[in-house]
Amino acid sequence: MKRRDIGSGSSHLDLNRRSFLRAASFAGAAVAIGGFSEAQFAFAQARHHSLLPENMVFLNANENPLGPCAAARAAMLEGITQSGRYHDEYAEELTNLFASQNGLKPEYVQPYAGSSQPLAYCVLAFCGPGKGVVMGAPGYEPAAFTAKTCDAPAASVALTKEGAHDVRAMVAASSSPGMYYIANPNNPTGTVTSRSDIEWLLANKPSGSIVVLDEAYIHFSDATPCIDLVAADKDVVVLRTFSKLYGMAGARLGLVVARPDLLKRINDRGGFTFCPVPAMKAGIASLKDAQVIALRKKINADVRQETFAWLASQGYAFTASQANCFMIDAKRPTQSVIDGMALQGVLVGRPWPMWPTHVRITVGTPEEMAQFRTAFQKVMETPVTASYRRHVLSRTTLFS
Ligand code: PLP
Repeated sequence: MKRRDIGSGSSHLDLNRRSFLRAASFAGAAVAIGGFSEAQFAFAQARHHSLLPENMVFLNANENPLGPCAAARAAMLEGITQSGRYHDEYAEELTNLFASQNGLKPEYVQPYAGSSQPLAYCVLAFCGPGKGVVMGAPGYEPAAFTAKTCDAPAASVALTKEGAHDVRAMVAASSSPGMYYIANPNNPTGTVTSRSDIEWLLANKPSGSIVVLDEAYIHFSDATPCIDLVAADKDVVVLRTFSKLYGMAGARLGLVVARPDLLKRINDRGGFTFCPVPAMKAGIASLKDAQVIALRKKINADVRQETFAWLASQGYAFTASQANCFMIDAKRPTQSVIDGMALQGVLVGRPWPMWPTHVRITVGTPEEMAQFRTAFQKVMETPVTASYRRHVLSRTTLFS
């Protein structure tokens, strides 16, 4: 299996063996911190694909096929030579730069190696037995997984038909919430929740509960960012990551933005990880790049719209995504589509059982989306019969 990115020289078999080992060790680490992330879901899924074609198209983990921008790559190279030392001055520079760009005091910003770890820490900090997580459904699952590890209840509230978080139903869903989790835009649907709904939630939530706004995909969308609510000392935590628009998923860099008392409660759950020097330098370079957000937002939107136009012409319904992922109603069991697509060389996202006929697709390059269209058409032309199931079974272990 070969990923289409720079420096991927591993052999098929090697990578599969390593994928398996990584998936196993990720799972162990996930249990230890009470968290799970898109990377771990993807590796857990990919380890089954031992008989799949060489040039897989990866539309399964909401990564950015563009990778880091040019300035970030140059900064990373410099960072490699400096990696013999901790260089915590870059954490300070990153913090100060982000704070000044967003009207925050630096003590409201904390770098982490990605946003998955602080998301888990938020649950551990704000929830526990009798103090639950309330989130949207379908939604990004790790907060619910972490809740299990600390015996906190988790309530999943269906999104509205437009795909927004139903904040009124979320407030009604729990009498003792510790934390409301809103990914805006949402994963897996890519749909957005309005600023007025978020303000309503803040005004009407039980006191003591915290609203965690996961803005992993915010740059792709027209949704209003909510960092100013943090600056105004509301009960809000905003999570940001460099994994999505900035194309640095494998480099590991994220930011937690919160009032210092909330940040302390989050950091106290296990301490933030020191971030890799190349990642911090690339993060700084990305934030200084005045063009990258608008440019990549447009690239993603153009490819997404082209795919939507094709899906609409074929009669498929899909979510009104403003992010780099969306869901299609395939009107057949999700797993059969995932497996069929894998056999056509295209990996797509995992199933969300509450939507048993939807599949999640990550927006790739125009060429990758052309491969997606060809593969999807072939899969959808194939009836889901017992013999098709046997055929897929004979070539993969996915149904096991
Ligand atoms: N939050 C959401 C909503 C995501 O979809 C993801 C990854 O897909 C993350 C957080 C985690 O990103 P990372 O740990 O790479 O920053």
